[in-house]
Amino acid sequence: MDNVVIGFIVFFYGSVFTSFFTLIGMRIPNEEPINGRSVCDQCRKVIPWYALIPVFGYFISGAKCVHCGERIAIKYPIYEFVGGLLFVLAYFYVMPNVFELVIVNIMLSLMIIVTVSDIEYKVVPNVVLLVFAPFIFGLRVFLPLLSDEVIMSTGEALTGGVVGFLFMWLIAWYGKMRFKQDALGGGDIKLYFVIGLFLGIRLVFLSLFFASILGIIIGRLVIKKMNPIPFVPFIFFGVIMTYVFGFDLLEWYLSLF
Ligand SMILES: [Zn+2]
Repeated sequence: MDNVVIGFIVFFYGSVFTSFFTLIGMRIPNEEPINGRSVCDQCRKVIPWYALIPVFGYFISGAKCVHCGERIAIKYPIYEFVGGLLFVLAYFYVMPNVFELVIVNIMLSLMIIVTVSDIEYKVVPNVVLLVFAPFIFGLRVFLPLLSDEVIMSTGEALTGGVVGFLFMWLIAWYGKMRFKQDALGGGDIKLYFVIGLFLGIRLVFLSLFFASILGIIIGRLVIKKMNPIPFVPFIFFGVIMTYVFGFDLLEWYLSLF
């Protein structure tokens, strides 16, 4: 099949998933059920199917609730668009390695949910980590990452998870000692166990490096008024950068010596 057609299909299911993950990320911290039909925040009436089409539904319905005219926030189509795009990029980056695509899609799903939760409520819900962690754990431990040149062993995934968790815990502990306030939430620390499993011991620190750099830049320049800044979006960025460029960067770095 033509790559453009595949790209559109993947974008479509990616944005449908993201739409659902956005809903999960926004409902779980409020302990709302995740299986009900989508209703308008204002009038609580059921949103018609065409307004739920990812990205386009927002424009078809004129950015308003069809019942009460309440404006629909632009963040929804943005989440859906970015999510769909990430699924497309993941597909073309990872294929033809189907097993790795499964792991990457699961990881992407987890990261989208916790990013939305963190942006909206500054929390990483435990229950989401508990649902996703066993899948990442199982797949990474029993199906080592196999790309053209990279093999990630079971031990590497496991130590990545444990070390990632401990390192974040240490940063949080230090931050609390030094600044007398929580720099990192408990959710961020637990999330790093899963990220460590996914990236492995060789790359887990690099992702934190990318996350911190972007976090510092954005934190200083753009969103001074948001306090505390949600850190998970930066972690997400760090994980993506590391997954795509990590092994090449590592190879380049080691070649300097
Ligand atoms: Zn309404």
